[in-house]
Parts: sequence; C-alpha cells; structure tokens
Amino acid sequence: MAKSQSGPAAAGPLKFKRILVANRGEIALRVMRTCREMGIDTACVFSEGDRGAEYLKLASHPVCIGPPPPGESYLKGDRIIAAAEMVGADAIHPGYGFLAENAQFAEMCRDSNIEFIGPSAESIRLLGDKAAARKLAKKAKVPTVPGSDGVVEDDEAALKIAEKVGYPVMVKALAGGGGRGLRIVRSREELKHALATSRQEALTSFNDAGVYIEKFIENPRHVEVQLIADQKGHVVHLYERDCTVQRRYQKLIEETPSPGIDNRTREDMCKAAVRLAKAANYYNAATVEFVVDQKGKPYFIEVNTRIQVEHPVTEMVTGIDLIRCQIEVAMGEPLGFTQRDVKRNGASIECRINAEDPVHNFRPCPGKIEHLNVPGGMGVRFDSHVYAGYTISPRYDSMIGKLIVHRPTRDEAIAAMRRCLMELRIQPTKTTIPLFRRIMEDEVFISGKFGTNFVERIDLERLGN
Ligand code: ADP
Ligand code: ADP
Ligand code: MG
Repeated sequence: MAKSQSGPAAAGPLKFKRILVANRGEIALRVMRTCREMGIDTACVFSEGDRGAEYLKLASHPVCIGPPPPGESYLKGDRIIAAAEMVGADAIHPGYGFLAENAQFAEMCRDSNIEFIGPSAESIRLLGDKAAARKLAKKAKVPTVPGSDGVVEDDEAALKIAEKVGYPVMVKALAGGGGRGLRIVRSREELKHALATSRQEALTSFNDAGVYIEKFIENPRHVEVQLIADQKGHVVHLYERDCTVQRRYQKLIEETPSPGIDNRTREDMCKAAVRLAKAANYYNAATVEFVVDQKGKPYFIEVNTRIQVEHPVTEMVTGIDLIRCQIEVAMGEPLGFTQRDVKRNGASIECRINAEDPVHNFRPCPGKIEHLNVPGGMGVRFDSHVYAGYTISPRYDSMIGKLIVHRPTRDEAIAAMRRCLMELRIQPTKTTIPLFRRIMEDEVFISGKFGTNFVERIDLERLGN
C-alpha cells in the first residue's frame, strides 16, 4: 500500500473546485466517483443519446453537448470547452477514447486556462505518433520490435525493411489505436497490396495515411507497465498488467501479476518504461505496452498517454486510486508516494463485459437490459453504468462494464471470477459472459501459459448462453 494518497492535498486547499468529465458511461462514472470522494464538484457532458442515464446523477452539472453521433458531441472539442466555461470548471478529465489522446484538444484546454487532466500536448503528440515513440524508445535503450525507423515512405523502402527483418511483418498505422490499423503480411507478394489498403484505411480512420513496419512476433504475450508521474519529474511504475487474452487485437481479459514473465523480465520492463517516460519529460498517467516473444524477451510497441480501461486491476493490487493520482498531479502536487512505497498484494483479474455476441463473430448487441444481477462479495468490483431498464446504444463502444476480482493468488482469483460470472446475469442482452465462463474453466488459461492466439483456439460456436 502507498503511504498516503491524501498527503500534500490534505495540507493545502484543493486547487480544483469543479472538474468537467468529457466522456460517458463507465469511465465518466469512475472519474466522478473519485471526484466526489475528494470533495471536488463534478460536471459531466452528455449527448442527447445519453440523456437521463443514471450515472449523470453523480454530476451536479450535467451539460448536453449535442446529438448522439460522437462526431457531433463527444468529439466536439469546442463545445466541451464551452461547457467547461459555462459551468466554471477548473479542469477537464477526458477518460479514455474520444479526445483523451488528442493533442489539439489538450492545447485548446491550455488556451482556455482549463487544466487538461493528462500529459502535456507535446507529450501526447510525441508519444501518440507510434513511429516517433519507437524512435524515442530506442534512444532511451528500451528494446523495440525490429522494423522501420519511422514512416515507410514508399513500397521500395517497405520491401527492403521487410526483407531485412524477415516475414511475417506487421503494417501498422502511425496514428492507430483500439486494435485498428494493423495488418499481418506473410510474404513479399502480399506486401504491396497490404501497404495500399493500410494507407487508405489509416487515412479514413485516423486522418493520417502514415504507416510503419514491425516484425510480427508469433503468438506473443501482451504485457504493459502502468506509470504515474508528477510535474516535478518523479516517475513511478505500478508494475505490469497482462492483456494477452485478445480478439482482433482488442483486449478481453486483463490481469496482474502477469503469469507469463519472470521477475527479472518484470523488473527490466518496469525500469525501461520509467526511462522512456523520463526521456519524454512525461507527467500524469501512461501505459507502456510491450509484446513478449516466446523466449520471454519483451519488445516495446506503444505508449498510451491516458488512463486505460484495465486500470482497476492495478488499483486492486496496489491500493492506489489512479484517477486520484491523475487529479493530484494535474493540480501540480508531487506524488504522495515513492517507488519504494508501492507494494503489491495478491492477484487481480478483469473481464470486459461487452454487449456483443461471441457466437456470431462478436457482433454488437445493443438494446434494452430487462434484467441485471450483479455479483458481490469479498474483493469483487463491478465498474459499470448500466442497470435494468438501461438501453445500450448502438452508437457507442459495446463495452458495458468491467468485472474485477482481487484475491491472494491467481488460482483463487480465477475461482472467484468463475463464481462471479455465475452470478452476473444481464438479460436479454447477448454479452461476452459465456466466453469468460468458458475461459475460466480452460486448462490452458489456468496454466497461465498462452499467447495472443489463445482465443482463436476456442470453439466459439459451442458457447451457448
Ligand atoms: P486500453 O488499452 O485502455 O484497453 P483500448 O485500445 O481498448 O485501450 O481503447 C480504449 C478505448 O478507446 C476504446 O473504446 C477504443 O475503441 C478507444 N480508442 C483507442 N484508441 C483509439 C483511436 N486512436 N481512435 C479511436 N478510438 C480509440
Ligand atoms: P493499438 O494502438 O491498436 O492498441 P498496438 O500497437 O498496441 O495497437 O497493438 C495491438 C495488439 O496487436 C497488441 O496487443 C498485440 O496483440 C498485437 N501486436 C502489435 N504489434 C505486434 C507485433 N509486432 N507482433 C505481434 N503482435 C503485435
Ligand atoms: Mg495498444
């Protein structure tokens, strides 16, 4: 446990009196919960599609910013700034997704004298460009996946790099995220076509046609390091999370400690992540992501310059409230703890409850929830904004909640998760719950020895409900 999280904050008056949350759903609720506990007043933006949602009751100032499509509401930086000014918010918390990694929005906040609860616009720009982040990682002696030095300008250059690192390779969008803009290329013949389609997709999805090339590491683990840094140059890691259970490069289950790395590797990765943050003069929360090959060697892949979906597993084992840390360092306070104070206890697992049908290729299943039964008990946490009577909109992310357990050991955590998944019922919505029930019984999952192709081995058609 960290020594104190309220240390310096309790001594002086709080600088932020009101925080505007520029997000929706579970993360908006998550942020407001901590604000309330810190005695900070909350405002929250919402689209017409979210009007009346229960989580908005935690906001003393809910502000409608437009129609349901994200492009007309949650992605409208100017409207969000106007909302913050209208309610007199000192700061904006962007959550994850939407504007969380938008450097221009962070600048707009700065120009309006509103604190952006996150890193500087410069850090977002530097690390959000995945090729630039690779360069910086190399400079900071963080091992990176072999690949291009930066953007691949033309097919010629791409072919050369691919020959050099050897097939298969991955073509990745510079500005990619959320598992999109990635493509595996297994031969020279495929590369040209893959480059053209990737560039086109990157342009449409991320408004940036830039792509780069990495060696494709076969069936790796995904292991990432959580960092928190203050504006005085202190960078502390909160150990790792293992997010190897994925489908389509998107995380489904996250856990800590990682069952797939040894202590030496863990220590190397945590130190490397801290070096990278220091090289970027980074402050606030960040996650440094790695893939770990089958020999156990980690390679840097990217930095996420925001709070992550899976942050609760870290909170469970460290006892540190990451949203609170984000707010405190955004107020200019020093971290209330040092690296030595960060102790880990036990094991924690999170399952992402998505309104998707795993039997039918994870197709989204929006609609009204008629019946909801939420598990509880020791070390159980359900972070969600939904309730019986809530209608899941097809316009937004299909993640409707996160089920998290914390136990002394991984085996006990799996047993607890199994029990919680028996209790958790969301009807008639199709969700990822049956898949997680299946995985918690899977011998390979239980053994802890698997790579990112784990979910591909599961016969999804036999899941049932
Ligand atoms: P995490 O590593 O925190 O799980 P994800 O990659 O799952 O992060 O992204 C979290 C959320 O942000 C998801 O809703 C995802 O769709 C969204 N997201 C992440 N990056 C981008 C991006 N570049 N463009 C659009 N949405 C993104
Ligand atoms: P995003 O920004 O969409 O999160 P990442 O670069 O973090 O993209 O990659 C997402 C996932 O894709 C990783 O978690 C991993 O499973 C897979 N991946 C990324 N790069 C590689 C690679 N070089 N080799 C093998 N798998 C990779
Ligand atoms: Mg990633």
